[in-house]
Amino acid sequence: MSESDADVIVVGAGFTGLSAAEALVSAGIDVIVLEARDRVGGRVESVAFSDGMRVDTGGQFVCDEMPEIMALVRRFGKALAETPMEGAFLVQRDSKAAETGYTFAESGRIRARANRIDPHDPAIAGLTAEAWLARQSDPPDAKAGYRAMVEGLWCRPIGEIPLWYLIDNDRRTTSNGSELQYFVEGTVHAVAEALAATLGPRLQINTAATCVERMDGSVTVTTGNRDVFRARQIIIAVPPVMASRITYEPDLPKPLIDAFAAWKSGTVIKTFVRYERPFWRDRGLSGMVMWRDVLGLFACDVSSDRAAALVVFVGGPLAAQWNGKGAGFVQAEIIRRLVAALGSEAGDYTDLRMRDWVDDRWSGGGYSDVITDASAYDAEAIIRVGAPPVHFAASELAPSFPAYIEGAIIAGREAAARVMAALHSKDQPASAISASAS
Ligand SMILES: Cc1cc2nc3c(=O)[nH]c(=O)nc-3n(C[C@H](O)[C@H](O)[C@H](O)COP(=O)(O)OP(=O)(O)OC[C@H]3O[C@@H](n4cnc5c(N)ncnc54)[C@H](O)[C@@H]3O)c2cc1C
Repeated sequence: MSESDADVIVVGAGFTGLSAAEALVSAGIDVIVLEARDRVGGRVESVAFSDGMRVDTGGQFVCDEMPEIMALVRRFGKALAETPMEGAFLVQRDSKAAETGYTFAESGRIRARANRIDPHDPAIAGLTAEAWLARQSDPPDAKAGYRAMVEGLWCRPIGEIPLWYLIDNDRRTTSNGSELQYFVEGTVHAVAEALAATLGPRLQINTAATCVERMDGSVTVTTGNRDVFRARQIIIAVPPVMASRITYEPDLPKPLIDAFAAWKSGTVIKTFVRYERPFWRDRGLSGMVMWRDVLGLFACDVSSDRAAALVVFVGGPLAAQWNGKGAGFVQAEIIRRLVAALGSEAGDYTDLRMRDWVDDRWSGGGYSDVITDASAYDAEAIIRVGAPPVHFAASELAPSFPAYIEGAIIAGREAAARVMAALHSKDQPASAISASAS
């Protein structure tokens, strides 16, 4: 057991925690970052194929409308690959029938119509996205496309997601649907690692915060290794569901406990399938496939000069269901479905990497946590206020691009600004820490 002091403790070394820590360090503030895993990046992580080429098994795609992550990519000298999109988008209706020429236009119209509704309109209070969709007069196919889009992106059953939350969340994602524009050669995870390297010994991996005790003007964290850290302020930079699993002494105020209880973790499985060559292009296909007999399944071409590959996402209730059947089932099912959609060559893959994020120990799931309590209008605002000196931040809470890497960077820097304001406020005792250290 050891004891250490700092001005600020940051719990979590995902993009939120790393961005918060970097902003604080740049302002000359003494920081310790505690990360539960044996690596940084959180929901951004990578694995290597057998030839050593790394791919992002968590967050991957970025676009021009995400200035903060794009600036980090440039700053750390990483190259971008444009996501190949040329060719036909395939809708696979069942194991036999497929059609090309699909566009997101019809389901996009439903999405745009929903987003024109004021999230606080009393007419939609208590309404789930599913209940609202049932009232729309769109053709069944357009509704199925919208449903697949919602469950594939928010990774929860559409019947659980309050319409107001979906609208509010979607309005903050301001990229007009081009989030898949680029991926980072050499992985966006390497960007997280480069950011972490700037923190040096301030970062401690394999160090899970288990208990946060708050006092007047200071906070004490106990870790799973029974180490104790003290600071004047703390940023818990983990998703809301994970934040609620930490013990707080005294208990968090009731409104905060209720605000955390409003969230559930998303369920997603991401798989890379590598090939000798992008054979689907021979038939004029883009490699993008959406399935209709199951919802939340989506394939996309992530080939670059270095390799040909498809990435397949299983999102929402389908991921939860497939997770229960084991990795062998999921892999076999993905290949079987790719063969049905793209041809027998899809079975001749050269390598495959699957990452199941369902119930992930330290992120809870992915892509993000989602509010499923229709009455929890204030949940985000309450969590953002926190219980100073305990502050909370996560991609989910970002004013723009919530649930994206971009949002994590913004949320982290915002939390750092709140903490700096608190450190400089007159209410804060001169320095409980420096006093106790001397
Ligand atoms: C499969 C998948 C695909 C995605 N695709 C994209 C994409 O293409 N583009 C995009 O922009 N975004 C994508 N995302 C979302 C993006 O990755 C996340 O929004 C973002 O990385 C979240 O960052 P964060 O720092 O807020 O949370 P996290 O990354 O979850 O970081 C939280 C950190 O806290 C740590 N932690 C948790 N509890 C404790 C504790 N008690 N003590 C210490 N440490 C703790 C965790 O280990 C983790 O490192 C994807 C996510 C997933 C899962």
